[in-house]
Amino acid sequence: MTTVLVTGASGFIAKHIVRELLENDYTVCASVRSQRGRDQLTALFPDAQLTFVTLDLMKDDGWAEAFEGVDVLLHTASPFPSEAPTDPEELIRPAVDGTMRALQAAHSAGVRRVVLTSSCAAIYKDKTKPKMAISTRDNWTDPTGPDTAAYEASKTLAERAAWDFVALHPEMKLTTINPGGVFGPPMDEHFGASLFYIEQFLSGGLPGVPHMNAPGVDVRDVARMHVRAIDNEATVGLRFPAVAGVEYLVDLTKTLKEAYPDHKIPTRELPSWLLRFTSLFIPVLRAATNDLGRNMAVVGTDAPEVMGFEYIPLHESVRASAQFLVEQGK
Ligand code: NDP
Repeated sequence: MTTVLVTGASGFIAKHIVRELLENDYTVCASVRSQRGRDQLTALFPDAQLTFVTLDLMKDDGWAEAFEGVDVLLHTASPFPSEAPTDPEELIRPAVDGTMRALQAAHSAGVRRVVLTSSCAAIYKDKTKPKMAISTRDNWTDPTGPDTAAYEASKTLAERAAWDFVALHPEMKLTTINPGGVFGPPMDEHFGASLFYIEQFLSGGLPGVPHMNAPGVDVRDVARMHVRAIDNEATVGLRFPAVAGVEYLVDLTKTLKEAYPDHKIPTRELPSWLLRFTSLFIPVLRAATNDLGRNMAVVGTDAPEVMGFEYIPLHESVRASAQFLVEQGK
Protein backbone atom coordinates (compact mmCIF):
# COMPACT_ATOMS: atom_id res chain seq x y z
CA MET A 1 0.00 0.00 0.00
CA THR A 2 1.24 3.49 -0.85
CA THR A 3 1.44 5.86 2.09
CA VAL A 4 0.73 9.52 1.35
CA LEU A 5 1.55 12.36 3.71
CA VAL A 6 -0.93 15.22 3.26
CA THR A 7 0.15 18.54 4.76
CA GLY A 8 -2.57 20.95 5.89
CA ALA A 9 -4.91 17.95 6.08
CA SER A 10 -7.47 20.00 8.04
CA GLY A 11 -8.02 22.36 5.09
CA PHE A 12 -11.11 22.71 2.90
CA ILE A 13 -9.38 21.13 -0.12
CA ALA A 14 -7.25 18.65 1.82
CA LYS A 15 -10.24 17.04 3.56
CA HIS A 16 -11.55 16.15 0.10
CA ILE A 17 -8.08 14.90 -0.86
CA VAL A 18 -8.00 12.65 2.23
CA ARG A 19 -11.44 11.28 1.29
CA GLU A 20 -10.33 10.65 -2.29
CA LEU A 21 -7.11 8.94 -1.12
CA LEU A 22 -8.99 6.66 1.29
CA GLU A 23 -11.54 5.78 -1.41
CA ASN A 24 -8.64 4.78 -3.66
CA ASP A 25 -6.99 2.56 -1.01
CA TYR A 26 -4.06 4.78 -0.14
CA THR A 27 -2.78 4.89 3.42
CA VAL A 28 -2.97 8.45 4.72
CA CYS A 29 -0.68 10.24 7.13
CA ALA A 30 -2.42 13.52 7.93
CA SER A 31 -0.28 16.47 8.91
CA VAL A 32 -2.11 19.04 11.03
CA ARG A 33 -0.92 21.80 13.30
CA SER A 34 -3.41 21.48 16.12
CA GLN A 35 -5.58 19.05 18.02
CA ARG A 36 -8.55 20.84 16.46
CA GLY A 37 -7.52 19.67 12.99
CA ARG A 38 -6.97 16.16 14.25
CA ASP A 39 -10.43 16.10 15.86
CA GLN A 40 -12.08 17.32 12.64
CA LEU A 41 -10.48 14.55 10.58
CA THR A 42 -11.25 11.86 13.13
CA ALA A 43 -14.88 12.97 13.13
CA LEU A 44 -15.01 12.91 9.32
CA PHE A 45 -13.31 9.54 8.87
CA PRO A 46 -14.12 7.55 12.04
CA ASP A 47 -13.43 4.17 10.45
CA ALA A 48 -10.20 5.06 8.66
CA GLN A 49 -6.76 4.09 9.92
CA LEU A 50 -5.42 7.65 9.70
CA THR A 51 -2.09 8.42 11.28
CA PHE A 52 -1.33 11.97 12.36
CA VAL A 53 1.74 14.15 12.56
CA THR A 54 1.85 17.69 13.90
CA LEU A 55 3.81 20.05 11.66
CA ASP A 56 3.99 23.83 11.43
CA LEU A 57 5.20 25.44 8.22
CA MET A 58 7.15 27.94 10.32
CA LYS A 59 8.89 25.47 12.62
CA ASP A 60 11.50 22.75 12.04
CA ASP A 61 10.08 20.42 14.70
CA GLY A 62 8.89 17.04 13.55
CA TRP A 63 9.50 17.28 9.81
CA ALA A 64 12.40 14.79 9.66
CA GLU A 65 10.49 12.11 11.61
CA ALA A 66 7.19 12.72 9.79
CA PHE A 67 8.31 11.06 6.58
CA GLU A 68 9.19 7.68 8.09
CA GLY A 69 7.37 5.06 5.98
CA VAL A 70 5.95 7.70 3.61
CA ASP A 71 6.02 7.18 -0.18
CA VAL A 72 4.38 10.33 -1.50
CA LEU A 73 4.09 13.95 -0.35
CA LEU A 74 0.94 15.95 -1.13
CA HIS A 75 1.81 19.45 0.05
CA THR A 76 -1.35 21.55 0.35
CA ALA A 77 -0.66 23.62 3.48
CA SER A 78 -0.31 27.35 2.93
CA PRO A 79 -2.04 30.34 4.52
CA PHE A 80 -5.25 31.25 2.66
CA PRO A 81 -6.86 34.16 4.54
CA SER A 82 -9.97 36.04 3.47
CA GLU A 83 -8.26 39.39 3.98
CA ALA A 84 -4.71 40.41 3.19
CA PRO A 85 -2.41 41.02 6.18
CA THR A 86 -0.61 44.36 6.47
CA ASP A 87 2.74 42.61 6.16
CA PRO A 88 2.91 40.41 3.00
CA GLU A 89 5.66 38.35 4.65
CA GLU A 90 2.98 36.85 6.93
CA LEU A 91 1.83 34.89 3.89
CA ILE A 92 5.06 34.62 1.92
CA ARG A 93 7.25 33.18 4.70
CA PRO A 94 5.04 30.20 5.63
CA ALA A 95 4.27 29.51 1.96
CA VAL A 96 7.89 29.51 0.80
CA ASP A 97 9.69 28.27 3.92
CA GLY A 98 6.98 25.66 4.52
CA THR A 99 7.34 24.33 0.98
CA MET A 100 11.10 24.11 1.43
CA ARG A 101 10.75 22.36 4.79
CA ALA A 102 8.36 19.84 3.25
CA LEU A 103 10.53 19.19 0.19
CA GLN A 104 13.80 18.95 2.09
CA ALA A 105 12.37 16.55 4.67
CA ALA A 106 10.75 14.44 1.95
CA HIS A 107 13.98 14.34 -0.04
CA SER A 108 16.10 13.36 2.98
CA ALA A 109 13.67 10.53 3.74
CA GLY A 110 13.92 9.20 0.18
CA VAL A 111 10.42 10.33 -0.89
CA ARG A 112 10.58 10.92 -4.63
CA ARG A 113 6.98 11.78 -5.59
CA VAL A 114 5.50 15.15 -4.74
CA VAL A 115 2.22 16.80 -5.71
CA LEU A 116 2.04 20.45 -4.69
CA THR A 117 -1.07 22.62 -4.43
CA SER A 118 -0.21 25.86 -6.16
CA SER A 119 -2.79 28.22 -7.67
CA CYS A 120 -3.91 30.12 -10.76
CA ALA A 121 -2.69 33.04 -8.64
CA ALA A 122 0.83 31.90 -9.57
CA ILE A 123 -0.10 32.15 -13.26
CA TYR A 124 -2.41 34.98 -14.27
CA LYS A 125 -0.48 38.14 -13.37
CA ASP A 126 2.33 37.65 -15.87
CA LYS A 127 3.89 40.99 -16.83
CA THR A 128 5.14 39.55 -20.14
CA LYS A 129 1.59 38.96 -21.41
CA PRO A 130 -1.01 41.58 -22.47
CA LYS A 131 -3.48 42.17 -19.62
CA MET A 132 -6.47 40.92 -21.61
CA ALA A 133 -4.76 37.77 -22.95
CA ILE A 134 -5.77 34.34 -21.61
CA SER A 135 -3.10 32.63 -19.48
CA THR A 136 -1.76 29.11 -19.82
CA ARG A 137 0.49 26.94 -17.69
CA ASP A 138 3.46 28.73 -19.33
CA ASN A 139 2.62 32.02 -17.62
CA TRP A 140 4.02 33.10 -14.28
CA THR A 141 2.72 35.84 -12.02
CA ASP A 142 5.19 38.63 -11.36
CA PRO A 143 5.54 38.43 -7.56
CA THR A 144 6.65 42.06 -7.34
CA GLY A 145 4.05 43.50 -9.72
CA PRO A 146 2.20 46.64 -8.51
CA ASP A 147 -1.18 44.85 -8.60
CA THR A 148 0.07 41.49 -7.29
CA ALA A 149 -1.50 40.73 -3.91
CA ALA A 150 0.50 39.18 -1.05
CA TYR A 151 -1.34 35.87 -1.45
CA GLU A 152 -0.55 35.79 -5.18
CA ALA A 153 3.11 36.51 -4.45
CA SER A 154 3.16 33.80 -1.77
CA LYS A 155 1.85 31.13 -4.14
CA THR A 156 4.15 32.21 -6.98
CA LEU A 157 7.29 32.27 -4.85
CA ALA A 158 6.43 28.95 -3.16
CA GLU A 159 5.82 27.20 -6.47
CA ARG A 160 8.99 28.69 -7.97
CA ALA A 161 10.96 27.46 -4.95
CA ALA A 162 9.57 23.95 -5.49
CA TRP A 163 10.56 23.86 -9.18
CA ASP A 164 14.01 25.23 -8.29
CA PHE A 165 14.39 22.51 -5.67
CA VAL A 166 13.57 19.66 -8.07
CA ALA A 167 15.86 21.19 -10.70
CA LEU A 168 18.68 20.64 -8.19
CA HIS A 169 17.33 17.19 -7.24
CA PRO A 170 16.08 15.70 -10.51
CA GLU A 171 15.32 12.37 -8.81
CA MET A 172 12.30 14.13 -7.25
CA LYS A 173 9.18 13.96 -9.42
CA LEU A 174 7.01 17.05 -9.00
CA THR A 175 3.54 17.87 -10.32
CA THR A 176 1.71 21.04 -9.37
CA ILE A 177 -2.06 21.49 -9.34
CA ASN A 178 -2.99 25.16 -9.86
CA PRO A 179 -6.66 25.67 -9.00
CA GLY A 180 -8.70 28.73 -9.83
CA GLY A 181 -11.20 29.81 -7.18
CA VAL A 182 -12.37 26.61 -5.50
CA PHE A 183 -16.10 26.06 -4.92
CA GLY A 184 -18.30 23.08 -4.13
CA PRO A 185 -19.54 21.50 -0.93
CA PRO A 186 -17.27 21.53 2.15
CA MET A 187 -16.87 18.24 4.02
CA ASP A 188 -17.75 19.92 7.32
CA GLU A 189 -18.41 23.36 8.79
CA HIS A 190 -14.68 24.22 9.01
CA PHE A 191 -13.90 25.35 5.48
CA GLY A 192 -11.48 28.27 5.65
CA ALA A 193 -11.90 31.30 3.40
CA SER A 194 -12.89 29.60 0.15
CA LEU A 195 -16.59 30.30 0.27
CA PHE A 196 -16.09 33.79 1.66
CA TYR A 197 -17.35 35.63 -1.42
CA ILE A 198 -20.36 33.34 -1.84
CA GLU A 199 -21.15 33.94 1.82
CA GLN A 200 -20.83 37.71 1.27
CA PHE A 201 -23.08 37.62 -1.79
CA LEU A 202 -25.69 35.42 -0.05
CA SER A 203 -25.82 37.63 3.01
CA GLY A 204 -26.46 40.80 0.97
CA GLY A 205 -23.27 42.28 2.43
CA LEU A 206 -22.04 43.69 -0.90
CA PRO A 207 -23.70 46.55 -2.78
CA GLY A 208 -22.88 45.17 -6.23
CA VAL A 209 -20.60 42.89 -8.15
CA PRO A 210 -17.07 43.79 -9.31
CA HIS A 211 -16.74 43.79 -13.09
CA MET A 212 -14.22 40.99 -13.35
CA ASN A 213 -13.95 37.40 -14.45
CA ALA A 214 -12.36 34.52 -12.57
CA PRO A 215 -11.35 30.93 -13.21
CA GLY A 216 -13.14 28.44 -10.96
CA VAL A 217 -13.27 24.75 -10.19
CA ASP A 218 -15.00 22.28 -7.91
CA VAL A 219 -13.17 21.09 -4.81
CA ARG A 220 -14.02 17.47 -5.70
CA ASP A 221 -12.19 17.84 -9.02
CA VAL A 222 -9.21 19.49 -7.33
CA ALA A 223 -8.99 16.52 -4.94
CA ARG A 224 -9.35 14.05 -7.80
CA MET A 225 -6.51 15.75 -9.70
CA HIS A 226 -4.11 15.54 -6.75
CA VAL A 227 -4.77 11.83 -6.33
CA ARG A 228 -4.77 10.91 -10.02
CA ALA A 229 -1.47 12.71 -10.52
CA ILE A 230 0.33 10.46 -8.04
CA ASP A 231 0.70 7.44 -10.31
CA ASN A 232 0.41 9.22 -13.65
CA GLU A 233 3.91 9.60 -15.12
CA ALA A 234 2.55 11.92 -17.82
CA THR A 235 1.95 14.56 -15.14
CA VAL A 236 5.53 14.62 -13.85
CA GLY A 237 7.34 17.91 -14.34
CA LEU A 238 4.16 19.80 -15.26
CA ARG A 239 1.79 22.38 -13.82
CA PHE A 240 -1.92 21.61 -14.20
CA PRO A 241 -4.30 24.56 -13.95
CA ALA A 242 -7.55 23.27 -12.39
CA VAL A 243 -10.19 25.35 -14.17
CA ALA A 244 -13.68 24.10 -15.00
CA GLY A 245 -14.76 27.45 -16.36
CA VAL A 246 -14.09 31.17 -16.42
CA GLU A 247 -17.05 33.39 -15.62
CA TYR A 248 -17.83 37.01 -14.92
CA LEU A 249 -18.75 37.24 -11.24
CA VAL A 250 -22.12 38.76 -12.12
CA ASP A 251 -23.07 35.59 -14.02
CA LEU A 252 -22.31 33.56 -10.90
CA THR A 253 -24.38 35.85 -8.69
CA LYS A 254 -27.27 35.54 -11.16
CA THR A 255 -27.08 31.76 -10.71
CA LEU A 256 -27.18 32.27 -6.94
CA LYS A 257 -30.15 34.61 -7.20
CA GLU A 258 -32.04 32.08 -9.34
CA ALA A 259 -31.46 29.40 -6.71
CA TYR A 260 -32.18 31.71 -3.73
CA PRO A 261 -34.56 34.46 -4.92
CA ASP A 262 -35.38 35.48 -1.33
CA HIS A 263 -31.76 36.38 -0.53
CA LYS A 264 -30.50 39.93 -1.15
CA ILE A 265 -27.96 38.79 -3.74
CA PRO A 266 -26.57 41.57 -5.98
CA THR A 267 -27.00 40.91 -9.71
CA ARG A 268 -25.70 44.21 -11.05
CA GLU A 269 -22.10 45.15 -11.67
CA LEU A 270 -20.60 48.12 -9.90
CA PRO A 271 -18.97 50.59 -12.32
CA SER A 272 -15.22 50.46 -11.74
CA TRP A 273 -15.05 54.01 -10.27
CA LEU A 274 -17.79 53.10 -7.79
CA LEU A 275 -16.05 49.85 -6.88
CA ARG A 276 -12.86 51.80 -6.14
CA PHE A 277 -14.81 54.28 -4.02
CA THR A 278 -16.86 51.60 -2.22
CA SER A 279 -13.75 49.58 -1.49
CA LEU A 280 -12.56 52.41 0.77
CA PHE A 281 -15.39 51.44 3.15
CA ILE A 282 -15.79 47.72 2.41
CA PRO A 283 -12.33 46.16 2.75
CA VAL A 284 -13.30 42.83 1.12
CA LEU A 285 -13.76 44.69 -2.17
CA ARG A 286 -10.25 46.14 -2.04
CA ALA A 287 -8.62 43.04 -3.51
CA ALA A 288 -10.96 43.16 -6.50
CA THR A 289 -9.78 46.65 -7.46
CA ASN A 290 -6.37 45.13 -8.29
CA ASP A 291 -7.97 42.84 -10.82
CA LEU A 292 -10.03 45.35 -12.81
CA GLY A 293 -9.08 45.57 -16.47
CA ARG A 294 -7.36 42.20 -16.52
CA ASN A 295 -8.47 38.93 -18.05
CA MET A 296 -8.10 36.38 -15.22
CA ALA A 297 -8.84 33.41 -17.52
CA VAL A 298 -6.49 30.43 -17.36
CA VAL A 299 -6.70 27.44 -19.69
CA GLY A 300 -7.44 24.27 -17.72
CA THR A 301 -8.18 21.75 -20.45
CA ASP A 302 -5.00 19.66 -20.12
CA ALA A 303 -5.96 18.06 -16.83
CA PRO A 304 -9.09 16.17 -17.98
CA GLU A 305 -7.22 14.90 -21.03
CA VAL A 306 -4.16 13.67 -19.15
CA MET A 307 -5.94 12.51 -15.99
CA GLY A 308 -9.13 11.15 -17.54
CA PHE A 309 -12.06 12.97 -15.96
CA GLU A 310 -14.66 15.63 -16.74
CA TYR A 311 -14.93 18.82 -14.74
CA ILE A 312 -18.06 19.41 -12.69
CA PRO A 313 -19.63 22.54 -14.30
CA LEU A 314 -18.72 25.73 -12.45
CA HIS A 315 -22.31 26.94 -11.94
CA GLU A 316 -23.14 23.57 -10.35
CA SER A 317 -20.21 23.96 -7.92
CA VAL A 318 -21.30 27.46 -6.99
CA ARG A 319 -24.85 26.23 -6.35
CA ALA A 320 -23.47 23.38 -4.21
CA SER A 321 -21.45 25.85 -2.10
CA ALA A 322 -24.50 28.05 -1.63
CA GLN A 323 -26.71 25.10 -0.73
CA PHE A 324 -24.25 24.10 1.98
CA LEU A 325 -24.13 27.64 3.37
CA VAL A 326 -27.90 28.08 3.31
CA GLU A 327 -28.35 24.75 5.09
CA GLN A 328 -25.93 26.12 7.71
CA GLY A 329 -28.24 29.11 8.15
CA LYS A 330 -26.02 31.64 6.32
P1 NDP B 1 -7.65 26.23 4.08
O1 NDP B 1 -7.39 27.51 4.80
O2 NDP B 1 -8.90 25.51 4.36
O3 NDP B 1 -6.42 25.25 4.27
C1 NDP B 1 -5.11 25.69 4.49
C2 NDP B 1 -4.40 24.64 5.28
O4 NDP B 1 -3.05 25.09 5.51
C3 NDP B 1 -5.03 24.40 6.65
O5 NDP B 1 -4.99 23.03 6.94
C4 NDP B 1 -4.12 25.18 7.58
O6 NDP B 1 -4.08 24.64 8.90
C5 NDP B 1 -2.78 24.97 6.91
N1 NDP B 1 -1.82 25.96 7.34
C6 NDP B 1 -1.86 27.31 7.18
N2 NDP B 1 -0.78 27.86 7.78
C7 NDP B 1 -0.08 26.84 8.33
C8 NDP B 1 1.11 26.78 9.10
N3 NDP B 1 1.81 27.86 9.44
N4 NDP B 1 1.55 25.56 9.48
C9 NDP B 1 0.86 24.43 9.17
N5 NDP B 1 -0.28 24.43 8.46
C10 NDP B 1 -0.74 25.63 8.06
O7 NDP B 1 -7.55 26.60 2.54
P2 NDP B 1 -7.74 25.68 1.24
O8 NDP B 1 -8.06 24.30 1.56
O9 NDP B 1 -8.63 26.42 0.34
O10 NDP B 1 -6.26 25.78 0.62
C11 NDP B 1 -5.42 24.66 0.47
C12 NDP B 1 -4.37 24.99 -0.56
O11 NDP B 1 -5.01 25.28 -1.80
C13 NDP B 1 -3.51 26.21 -0.22
O12 NDP B 1 -2.20 25.93 -0.66
C14 NDP B 1 -4.13 27.31 -1.08
O13 NDP B 1 -3.19 28.32 -1.39
C15 NDP B 1 -4.51 26.49 -2.31
N6 NDP B 1 -5.53 27.11 -3.16
C16 NDP B 1 -6.79 27.37 -2.66
C17 NDP B 1 -7.75 27.91 -3.49
C18 NDP B 1 -9.14 28.16 -3.01
O14 NDP B 1 -9.92 28.85 -3.69
N7 NDP B 1 -9.52 27.62 -1.87
C19 NDP B 1 -7.44 28.29 -4.89
C20 NDP B 1 -6.10 27.94 -5.30
C21 NDP B 1 -5.19 27.38 -4.46
P3 NDP B 1 -5.21 25.04 10.01
O15 NDP B 1 -6.44 24.23 9.63
O16 NDP B 1 -4.59 24.61 11.28
O17 NDP B 1 -5.42 26.51 9.89
